[in-house]
Amino acid sequence: MTATSAASAAYIVSGLLFILSLAGLSKHETAKAGNAYGIAGMTLALAATVGVVIGDISAIGLILLVIAVVIGAAIGIWRARRVEMTGMPELIALLHSFVGLAAVLVGWNGYLSVEGVDPSDGGPVLTGAESGIHSAEVVIGVFIGAVTFTGSVVAFLKLSARIKSNPLVLPGKNWLNVGALALFAVLTVVFVLEPNLLVLAVVTALALALGWHLVASIGGGDMPVVVSMLNSYSGWAAAASGFLLGNDLLIITGALVGSSGAYLSYIMCRAMNRSFLSVIAGGFGNEGSAASADVDYGEHTEIGAEEVAELLRDAESVVITPGYGMAVAQAQGAVADLTRKLTDRGVDVRFGIHPVAGRLPGHMNVLLAEAKVPYDVVLEMDEINDDLAATSVVLVIGANDTVNPAAAEDPSSPIAGMPVLRVWEAERVVVFKRSMNTGYAGVQNPLFFRENSRMLFGDARERVEDILRAL
Ligand code: NDP
Repeated sequence: MTATSAASAAYIVSGLLFILSLAGLSKHETAKAGNAYGIAGMTLALAATVGVVIGDISAIGLILLVIAVVIGAAIGIWRARRVEMTGMPELIALLHSFVGLAAVLVGWNGYLSVEGVDPSDGGPVLTGAESGIHSAEVVIGVFIGAVTFTGSVVAFLKLSARIKSNPLVLPGKNWLNVGALALFAVLTVVFVLEPNLLVLAVVTALALALGWHLVASIGGGDMPVVVSMLNSYSGWAAAASGFLLGNDLLIITGALVGSSGAYLSYIMCRAMNRSFLSVIAGGFGNEGSAASADVDYGEHTEIGAEEVAELLRDAESVVITPGYGMAVAQAQGAVADLTRKLTDRGVDVRFGIHPVAGRLPGHMNVLLAEAKVPYDVVLEMDEINDDLAATSVVLVIGANDTVNPAAAEDPSSPIAGMPVLRVWEAERVVVFKRSMNTGYAGVQNPLFFRENSRMLFGDARERVEDILRAL
């Protein structure tokens, strides 16, 4: 068996392990096994790839390969060990940008080593159809990779709050996107007919600008869809590189990541009542929305921890709706203790989880599972929303956009139409946060000014611990 055919066999096994990994990751109980399959598949794939190249590279090439693997692995282990749960989305966005950049480099390398070399200087000779297919692979791979690269960099900057999450609204922004796509189609035809460096450079610049613009024009509230979409784009970028490199595993893995990311984006869009096409087209049709930050909603009313303890003591039913602030405060342990204490006193305590609460799909579920809150009291938004009107007290712990009535009541709000937890229907609402600042979407929340709302200011974990002491 040659090294190449052994590698092909290993790639098929890796591909199967990746499919098992995705299947495992789709359920709580099998997630750990899913991770293990993924690690095994990636280790096998890396070993097989190194096995293939080791036969035909020079000693210097081998040394460079080892250095690259060691540096890459060291950075990967260091980042993964250090990252906080709250920093995961931006780390993922950054990793997507690397996939995009790699696809751009692979594309350029494909051009420089095939179309860019004269056959008389030892360049490969491709026949008509072969040459057309190769050029198309180059230009499409570079385009998808460059869009993914800058799109992910903007997502990283927005998620890590290095730039504002408000949507960028350039005049005629939809037509800019449509124009860029049309220009790309024309340039692709030109490049396939007559490959040349200038056209490839223009396509690269165009795609870099388009990726930047697409994500910059999406508002904070729609970022969850963007993250899963960039995940999908990074998969297609990897698949495009697979075609160029003739690597079956990259094609399979890229297609798996591409299609599962696209499906996740579709699920997120449905959960947020957004049009899939509108979000992938960079917030197409959102030009009319205006932030409601300047509206005067009146005065808010503060409350102290002892008074909240009092309210909870008399409550029949309590619903807790956690959000990103619970993750920042690492309040999940204290919240789990509060749940146990109230349940022991005979209070009916349940959780209402919004599909995009936090900064990652399933973020709140992971934190509550870590704090050992029983699964059966943790309900999805749709399962709990109709019960909120009959609830004595809702504790909004570090959530903001996901409980904003403007989404349901103000058609001009940037988050209009997004389904939210209707916490304002409860008898009493207590909002845990540190200030009157807005949430991720940058939209003011009229809930804070409602008659039945009370604001409990301070770090969520400290305030929950104060309540526990007062109970
Ligand atoms: P938000 O981001 O809307 O609000 C979080 C709130 O927590 C803020 O109002 C903040 O107020 C408060 N907070 C922060 N730190 C603390 C602390 N230590 N103690 C107490 N409160 C704190 O959260 P939601 O979960 O409601 O909404 C998620 C938002 O993130 C949505 O807009 C969603 O679209 C977006 N998003 C979600 C992703 C996902 O996959 N789930 C991915 C990307 C974006 P203050 O500063 O005053 O304390």
